[in-house]
Amino acid sequence: MQLGKLRAGLTQVLATNAFWRERLSGVSGWDDFERLPLTTKSELLEDQAAHPPFGSNLTHPLDRYVRLHQTSGSSGDQPLRWLDTAESWEWWERIWAEHVYTAAGVTAEDRVFHAFSFGPFIGFWSAFGGAQRLGAMCISGGAMTSEQRVRNMLDLGATVLLCTPTYALRLADVASEVGVNLSAGSVRTTIHAGEPGASIPATRSAIEAAYSAVAYDHTGMTELGPTGHSCSARDGVHLIESEFIFEVLPDGELVATNLGRWGMPLIRYRTGDRVEIADEPCSCGSPFMKVAGGIRGRVDDMFTVRGVNLYPSQVEDIVRRYREVTEFVIERRTERQMDEVTLVLEATDELVVDRLQADLRQALGVRLECRAVPAGTLPKAELKSKRIVTR
Ligand SMILES: [Zn+2]
Repeated sequence: MQLGKLRAGLTQVLATNAFWRERLSGVSGWDDFERLPLTTKSELLEDQAAHPPFGSNLTHPLDRYVRLHQTSGSSGDQPLRWLDTAESWEWWERIWAEHVYTAAGVTAEDRVFHAFSFGPFIGFWSAFGGAQRLGAMCISGGAMTSEQRVRNMLDLGATVLLCTPTYALRLADVASEVGVNLSAGSVRTTIHAGEPGASIPATRSAIEAAYSAVAYDHTGMTELGPTGHSCSARDGVHLIESEFIFEVLPDGELVATNLGRWGMPLIRYRTGDRVEIADEPCSCGSPFMKVAGGIRGRVDDMFTVRGVNLYPSQVEDIVRRYREVTEFVIERRTERQMDEVTLVLEATDELVVDRLQADLRQALGVRLECRAVPAGTLPKAELKSKRIVTR
């Protein structure tokens, strides 16, 4: 089925899309597919710089496109612009309705609150449309303070919350500061994207305790579309293989080809996300391959402490066991050609730092220096928290 969809889509792409015409020839079988070149984000950025403002990856004349979004630029890159046609936007919304919401048990009865600013970044726009397609009530939490969002959710009887995992915890902190008990509220399901937190056990438990809800993970990218979601087993993320072709490089990097966004498609795109594929079939019955424990981290987020390779998600899984810690970053610097790493924490109780440091040593097998800073020192992100800072 994947090969059939790919071949049908490529017929038009190779006829009119300058970016892919230069790179690809036709595909008649999987052998041909595996010979196609891999594509990187920097190649896409270069193409947009060379052919402003949208680049040359356009299958149709510009008047066919109805939406423009752009990447968050959280990695410090220039934002990448992405165009959708009515058909490809419909594809996004359908995947949300049929796969992401359905796996989380969201139905037409639900009231879905999107705690998000609705700027040019694509995140949660497609979730909003997908919820409407499902017949649910869609509530925008744009242009509100965190306190207004908390009160709005409760006043309107929202049953589903969508936001980043870090922001879900931030909302819970704000709720307790203003004396609102979220766990007694109406939210029963939370869906998170932008960071791997909802697949990190300690982060997920903290969210679930704060809201008395079940938390689900969702993976996706502006330039690719909605790629995966967690399921009832909640020990990983299923990749939606009916809408994408997924491959994993020897170093664990996930590569994806979308099969429904032909106006601006991506073929064999290097996501920069590092994954590990589960060997066993999932207890939920899904036939799609599962990424064990969700996305482990960005390929370029790995850091080394005394020869031990670590990802921010491993640190987060320990840090989030402490509700006294409200924010954290991993500070990386080079001293005398040695990698030095410090975990910088905002904690309401400084005594927690020694216990946390001992727990980290136990779990990671290496001593990671911790330093507490006053509340309000670290940046608060609504979008994607930056967990590694290089000095
Ligand atoms: Zn499953």
